[in-house]
Amino acid sequence: MEDRLQMYNTLTRSIERFVPNVPGKVAMYTCGPTVYHFAHIGNLRSYIQEDVLEKTLRYLGYDVKRVMNITDVGHLSDDGDNGEDKMVKGAQREHKTVMEIAKFYTDAFFEDCRKLNIKTPDVVEPATGCIPEFIHMIEVLLEKGYAYQAGENVYFDTSKLKEYYVLTNHSEDSLLEGVRDDVDVDPNKRNKNDFVLWFTKSKFEDQALKWDSPWGVGYPGWHIECSCISMKHLGEYMDIHCGGVDNIFPHHTNEIAQSESYLGHKWCNYWFHVNHLNDRNGKMSKSKGATLTVSVVEENGYDPLVYRMFCLQSHYRKPLEFSYEVMDQVKSAYEKLRRRISGMAANAAGEVDSEAFAQFRRQFEDALCNDLNTASAITVLYDVLKADIPDATKVALAKSFDEVLSLDLTKPLPEAEGSGADGELTAWVEEMIAKRAEAKKAKDFATADAIRAELAARGVQIKDTREGVVWELISQS
Ligand code: AMP
Ligand code: ZN
Repeated sequence: MEDRLQMYNTLTRSIERFVPNVPGKVAMYTCGPTVYHFAHIGNLRSYIQEDVLEKTLRYLGYDVKRVMNITDVGHLSDDGDNGEDKMVKGAQREHKTVMEIAKFYTDAFFEDCRKLNIKTPDVVEPATGCIPEFIHMIEVLLEKGYAYQAGENVYFDTSKLKEYYVLTNHSEDSLLEGVRDDVDVDPNKRNKNDFVLWFTKSKFEDQALKWDSPWGVGYPGWHIECSCISMKHLGEYMDIHCGGVDNIFPHHTNEIAQSESYLGHKWCNYWFHVNHLNDRNGKMSKSKGATLTVSVVEENGYDPLVYRMFCLQSHYRKPLEFSYEVMDQVKSAYEKLRRRISGMAANAAGEVDSEAFAQFRRQFEDALCNDLNTASAITVLYDVLKADIPDATKVALAKSFDEVLSLDLTKPLPEAEGSGADGELTAWVEEMIAKRAEAKKAKDFATADAIRAELAARGVQIKDTREGVVWELISQS
């Protein structure tokens, strides 16, 4: 098969053609959630875009194996080695055990994913299930001289690497300032960027989960889990590693440091990072008070798939600001789209035009192959709906595109509320109105009039207003 996908690689800071290690097969890893609270819709933006990447690869014909961890131990509140353990904090907040918290929020995360049509990765592995693997990797790093013990913790020694900042533009100087501000510098570290592989004696006396290890009873640092879990299921060579942009430093930088030191060769070729969703006040954060979750979006009257479409209409590498005004626009567009397609589906008899199908499918793939341009891919869908091709072909294309977009495009609509008409009729009328608008645009007034007459024959009266066409059911035929 031809490798057509072009995508941005954080490692090389450029758009590259994606070529997997093994032709036709993709080994893909995603940093999973830290399950101490509900995921906010920012977190879920990352998972939606990673889902689109996985589904695009499958659509293009690759055999994808995708692995995700669940962080249920070791993630501290400042992403470095300072602060409190997020899981322990969650357990204290809710007067539960860490494992109860982990189970509750893992289930909640997958429920949110289900609502957003995010496919569950092929393998999902909680960090607490892989402690022996972590210990083994740390032992090897110690043997090879990449790690050291100090103050009863085990640290990775970043001074042993030729290049540490492979993923970032960071220079030693720019980081020094940050370190100078940091009042909580760990005196055991030989170099400022060294990070903990295994905690034993630490300031977190209340750490609930502890395991025996060659260095004493303790628990792993955060970064080691993703290196070990990915290698356990995907082997020594990985094609794509994903996460949000905040993961680039220090998490992914440290993952590369320890994985490549352990393996002795390059580990992962492509790094895919999704930019942040922000609210008006800036970065969204799970630890801030009011969290914008999928449930909040639903309580405000939006189908979670409206949020999925909201995300797909912008590019994953650009920051995105959440607003209910834009959500309203997307909601209206989404509902129209669903009604239109379901109106067609109700009346689409006949054969699919295979030539037109192949041509539009290619256009859709081209949009996605252009660094996952989902907004253009959606435009191709609108082009299909406008095209002069049989309805059966349009419906078949919508169904096909939905393998990637996952917007339930061809799912039957629930009954329309309050219009007095059933959902199927509403969808059909919307579809006829859209066809009439196209005919009028093409100055094909005969067709436009015929459509009006067909609607009237079914008891539907339409009126052209400045706000668009409005319709009314005056008699049931
Ligand atoms: P966490 O549960 O904190 O480990 O984060 C889960 C995923 O969400 C990671 O891939 C983060 O990089 C990503 N993430 C965190 N905040 C945001 C945000 N505001 N917008 C998009 N992705 C985010
Ligand atoms: Zn990770």
